[in-house]
Amino acid sequence: MDFRLTAEQAASQKLFREFAEKEIAPYAAHYDETAQFPAEIIKKMAAQGFMGIPIPREYGGAGQDFLTYILFLEEVSRACASTGVILAVHTSVGTFPIYLYGTEEQRRKYVPKLAGGEYIGAYALTEPGAGSDAASLRTSARREGDEYVLNGSKIFISNGGHAEVYTVFATLDRKLGSRGITAFLVDKDTPGFRVGAVEKKMGLNADITTELIFEDCRVPASQRLGEEGEGFKIAMSLLDGGRIGIAAQGLGIAQAALDEALKYTRKREQFGQPVFDFQAVSFKLANMATRIEAARLLVYQAAWLKQNNLPCGKQASMAKMYATDTAMYAAIEAVQAFGGYGYIRDYPVERLFRDAKVTQIYEGTNQIQRLVIARALQKGL
Ligand SMILES: Cc1cc2nc3c(=O)[nH]c(=O)nc-3n(C[C@H](O)[C@H](O)[C@H](O)COP(=O)(O)OP(=O)(O)OC[C@H]3O[C@@H](n4cnc5c(N)ncnc54)[C@H](O)[C@@H]3O)c2cc1C
Repeated sequence: MDFRLTAEQAASQKLFREFAEKEIAPYAAHYDETAQFPAEIIKKMAAQGFMGIPIPREYGGAGQDFLTYILFLEEVSRACASTGVILAVHTSVGTFPIYLYGTEEQRRKYVPKLAGGEYIGAYALTEPGAGSDAASLRTSARREGDEYVLNGSKIFISNGGHAEVYTVFATLDRKLGSRGITAFLVDKDTPGFRVGAVEKKMGLNADITTELIFEDCRVPASQRLGEEGEGFKIAMSLLDGGRIGIAAQGLGIAQAALDEALKYTRKREQFGQPVFDFQAVSFKLANMATRIEAARLLVYQAAWLKQNNLPCGKQASMAKMYATDTAMYAAIEAVQAFGGYGYIRDYPVERLFRDAKVTQIYEGTNQIQRLVIARALQKGL
């Protein structure tokens, strides 16, 4: 067993870290304060070829392996968790569905633009009445000649208003349950489609999260992704990769919390010594570092399984749950290690604390991850 990254992965990781420290981290607080989509950062990532790392070169991507993409997500999220989720949604559930399930025409139309960063992607599954129980969604699709007519609304959609194309899940017949769900590629300017309210959130302020509204929205039949009734399968199949991505986001947040806590506690003096020299403080950091290392092993293992086409559902859920719980834990501990300064906006751990929370909620709450893991255990997996 060899736990080392390959030479190519290690070189990419170094490049990603340098890029994130120079081009992302210095601006993270500004984008958080102003709740602005970090368009300039995305432009720079696109110029470097970072918007389609795991997509084959033939379709405009960088053709690198899945773990390399995960390494990038970790470094980006360490610098700015909002940019991390924009990238994760764009790649894992915005670009991959079209690359994996699109017709050749759909792939050629969208994937090079998405992988090149000219387009931003989005994934619209959640509705006001359908969150964890996504199969109960109500947005309807009705076939009329060469078109489908969509009606309904989606909620909490990342990259809302900034994406050029949305993968939208709607039902042809609610009586069919999950087997009635079908996926559609909806262009931003499709008649009958509009972006609704922008959510005001606790954190991840630079990731714009919106409502989407469909009112007799006419989508050409050529924009259906996969077959009728295949939508739920498509939605679920993307979740393994999506969850490993969010796990990497959690890992990046946790690492940033540890970095900041270490830097601060070694400098801050009370009672004539750096507070790090109090065992109560240094043990806190030792615990954080250990949990982060364990999370990293789970995340990289899940990514490795995925890129080798091995079953990874259970490991993806374990990685997502553990790494994001670690993000929240590390952020809480970092705020405590900063004392009162940890509660003040001028210091980065306050933002990490707010950003960490949602990683335990989206891409399947951590209760749902436990459900997935328990079911796998039941099946002897
Ligand atoms: C910032 C943000 C960005 C998001 N981005 C997107 C996006 O881009 N696209 C998209 O489609 N969605 C997105 N979501 C939606 C997100 O995936 C859902 O919020 C999440 O799946 C939970 O659904 P819910 O909010 O309806 O909670 P509910 O499903 O109503 O859950 C409420 C509580 O009940 C628990 N619960 C529910 N069912 C069970 C069960 N069977 N067993 C145990 N506990 C259970 C949950 O864990 C939770 O604690 C985003 C959400 C946020 C906050």
